[in-house]
Amino acid sequence: MKKTYSNPCVRCGTERIVARTWKEKMDNSTIVNTEMVCPNPDCQKQVVKENKKQTDRYAALRLKSEQRATLRKAALHEKRKK
Ligand SMILES: [Zn+2]
Repeated sequence: MKKTYSNPCVRCGTERIVARTWKEKMDNSTIVNTEMVCPNPDCQKQVVKENKKQTDRYAALRLKSEQRATLRKAALHEKRKK
């Protein structure tokens, strides 16, 4: 059975091309990673920028929830003291 691979660009919908492949050792097996990019360099730049924005936002959110958890723990601690 042949698997058709479709990996269109999120911005322009053009079929993405392989930018690079690299091997990664995982325990006893080697997995091959593939990085797909948009054939349009300007478009790809935008995609990378947007991805970074999302990653930053996610990191900020995680940091915030971690801070909240720490505060909550501290508040619980305060209550116990009384
Ligand atoms: Zn594109």
